[in-house]
Amino acid sequence: MCTSDHGNHPIAVDVADTAAASVAPSPEIVADLVAANHILFDQGVVDAFGHISVRHDKRPDRFLLARNMAPSRVEAEDIVEFTLDGEAVNANGRKVYLERFIHAEIFRRRPDVMAVIHSHSHSIVPLSVVKGTRLRAMFHMAGFVGQGAPVFEIREAGGDATDLLIGNNHLGRALAEHFDGHDIVLMRGHGSTVVGYSIKQAVYRAVYAELNARYQLQAMQLGEVTYLTEGESRACVASIEAQVHRPWEMWLEQARARRR
Ligand SMILES: [Zn+2]
Repeated sequence: MCTSDHGNHPIAVDVADTAAASVAPSPEIVADLVAANHILFDQGVVDAFGHISVRHDKRPDRFLLARNMAPSRVEAEDIVEFTLDGEAVNANGRKVYLERFIHAEIFRRRPDVMAVIHSHSHSIVPLSVVKGTRLRAMFHMAGFVGQGAPVFEIREAGGDATDLLIGNNHLGRALAEHFDGHDIVLMRGHGSTVVGYSIKQAVYRAVYAELNARYQLQAMQLGEVTYLTEGESRACVASIEAQVHRPWEMWLEQARARRR
């Protein structure tokens, strides 16, 4: 787990800003990114750990991610701009997330992706460690999970003595390769990463991936599970994910009410 904050591989890291000039993103995208941090906490997808990023709306070769902090506490002034190498542009001395390379390398490999969420949401972790069992779409709200989410095995890229964290570009690239043809990837003994074409879609998927995992674990205890077909998965994505603004408004209202 990403709970240690000591040793030679800390999860909060000091970095020197790259010399590249910062470009101000639109206030709307920053506001949505802040709101997404609060929603993901309120919906139980992230706790003190986990993070969401968005591709910069004026510079597709940059992305925005909070400084190293608990998502529930993120405000607009905490958002930092990064290059696709994972280098901070304007951290200005603030610590950043060690695992920013997850975001950097996915944005580099998948030009269609606009938002990335990494979490350790509770029901997904068990499905990352059992051989022969994969997270798979089993209800209509989670068609994006498809016919079996890939599991990233960090030992293949980093050997058998890593802390399981994606702490450099090499590991980030190895993870990003699993997103060819997939929008969610489990990380063995760690959690998952999900992508979307907008912040709202990525948040929707992170919430419903956790629900799919929970329902799948429950259904597997009862007997043989009937999963969605590939055609059903695609049809569900096309129809239901056109509605991601609906839960977003509700989740945002709930998160705001609970923050008061
Ligand atoms: Zn992590």
